[in-house]
Amino acid sequence: MCCGCSSMEDGQAVVDHVRNKGKAELPPLVEHEIQCECGEVFTLKKVIMNCPKCEMTYAVTPCSSGDFNNIKRAGIAYA
Ligand SMILES: [Zn+2]
Repeated sequence: MCCGCSSMEDGQAVVDHVRNKGKAELPPLVEHEIQCECGEVFTLKKVIMNCPKCEMTYAVTPCSSGDFNNIKRAGIAYA
């Protein structure tokens, strides 16, 4: 495995980890469709990305980004 990050449960920890590795701008393995709790639907084009409507930050590590279930919420405008 690449970085031992696949077990992180907390969205803010994921954001910090991915940022520290300088990978926040990477595209995910799969461009998942996110259905935000605010009702907005958008496509995840980067591993850390805010909802365009409510700014909720979604985060996933690059190596676990193939699985939708690994995408975590980190809080409003955390990124
Ligand atoms: Zn939203």
